[in-house]
Amino acid sequence: MSAVPVAAVETLEAYAAATASCTRCRLAQGRTQVVFGAGNPRADLMFVGEAPGFHEDKQGVPFVGQAGKLLDGLLAGVDLRREDVYIANVLKCRPPGNRDPQPDEIESCEPHLFRQIELIEPKVIATLGNFATKLLSGRPLGITRVHGQEQPLQIAGRSVLLYPLYHPAAALYTPAMLKVLESDFERLPALLGGGAAVPAAVPVLEAVPVAEREPAPAEQLGLF
Ligand code: URA
Repeated sequence: MSAVPVAAVETLEAYAAATASCTRCRLAQGRTQVVFGAGNPRADLMFVGEAPGFHEDKQGVPFVGQAGKLLDGLLAGVDLRREDVYIANVLKCRPPGNRDPQPDEIESCEPHLFRQIELIEPKVIATLGNFATKLLSGRPLGITRVHGQEQPLQIAGRSVLLYPLYHPAAALYTPAMLKVLESDFERLPALLGGGAAVPAAVPVLEAVPVAEREPAPAEQLGLF
């Protein structure tokens, strides 16, 4: 365990500085640096991806590789720039060889993501791919079933709209998925305009960190 004070730090910048020396999980050993997140600390729209890859680990910035270029293009398509939004990942450190995040790594790292969300206070959180979607929704439903379906969520007593999207890295090589991602992206301005006031199609969920949930088999968490 690291000495990172998860709840005590008041600004995103200070929290990022405290997180830079995190040793909460084994990924600390192989990383070049912690990739905390980047963008507007007061953004209405936050993206949450999976984990840093090779380029992100080297540069310390999320989504700077091929998937990041696609994300930039998708943002431009709805008149947004990186500086307008905040981009983070479920894991802040690169898994070796870009393998999938492990359940214990997600559990160790999630306080950082929840604290980021509390400090940024976004109106909409667009989760990119399965790992972010399952973690924040607390449900095992895969991205193929839930993409494009906004979901009101309570995080730290605040209403947030969760908006699951395909991961850009998956869409890069699958033209049909890219089309779906583009059309899901087109709804973002309307969701931001309506924010959390968009009528709830489904019951409001409470985002509960994995560490505080009832024990459930890993399979049920849908991490595999
Ligand atoms: N994929 C992610 O999920 N995050 C990154 O930062 C880069 C690629």
